[in-house]
Amino acid sequence: MTDIYLAGIKGGMKDEPKKFARWRSEMVEKQIVSRGVTDPLVLQAMVKVPRHLFVSEALVDSAYGDFPLPIGEGQTISQPFIIAEMSQCLELKGHERVLEIGTGSGYQAAVLAQIAYKVYTIERNNTLFLQTRKLFDKLKYYNIVTRYSDGTQGWKEESPFDAIMVTAGGQQIPAPLIDQLSIGGRLVMPVGGTFSQELLKLEKTETGIKTSNLGACRFVKLIGQHGWDE
Ligand code: SAH
Repeated sequence: MTDIYLAGIKGGMKDEPKKFARWRSEMVEKQIVSRGVTDPLVLQAMVKVPRHLFVSEALVDSAYGDFPLPIGEGQTISQPFIIAEMSQCLELKGHERVLEIGTGSGYQAAVLAQIAYKVYTIERNNTLFLQTRKLFDKLKYYNIVTRYSDGTQGWKEESPFDAIMVTAGGQQIPAPLIDQLSIGGRLVMPVGGTFSQELLKLEKTETGIKTSNLGACRFVKLIGQHGWDE
């Protein structure tokens, strides 16, 4: 498996020190493949996206560690394995329009942008929104569209979406997001209390909605009309 996805893939940016590509490969091998993520598109995306550019300079050397990291404004970027697992469960092939709620550092959106056709991402914190919008431009992620608003209401004008990922936890899946998911679409979101949640995957079919539980997780709060109060 490892040989297949790593063969011929040159992770990395043109001008970055070589250690970063090595750290990324190690991250994918030791934290992600070893825990059972197999989707080659997800693994390739994570070998490529320079996670260290999505954290503050002081955290660059910790960027590929097996843990979440602070990104300012009291928010966090998820552990690499969680990013991989959530990405895999959207079952992306390349043609999809994906909605992400909670842009944060932009790392998750950048991973999705490697795999999907277009990523729509919403952030409610203006500081993070502005900072990350700038970063997407700098890194030339031209298939990521950003919006500053309450993501619990979705993005109606651009709906329906083939896949939706919510990267903050709420008591339930916001109804507008289920409405804005296409038939055959997948949605993933942490659902539960403020301290811990269960990662839920929802599949929308002609006949109804199928939900599966991917296990316990811990995310920051989803704040908004269909989420927690501020
Ligand atoms: N996907 C991000 C994770 C950031 S943490 C990354 O890769 O870095 C979750 C983010 O969700 C925070 O930035 C928080 O401000 C944002 N958030 C919380 N509630 C939101 C809402 N209703 N709409 C949009 N963003 C929200």
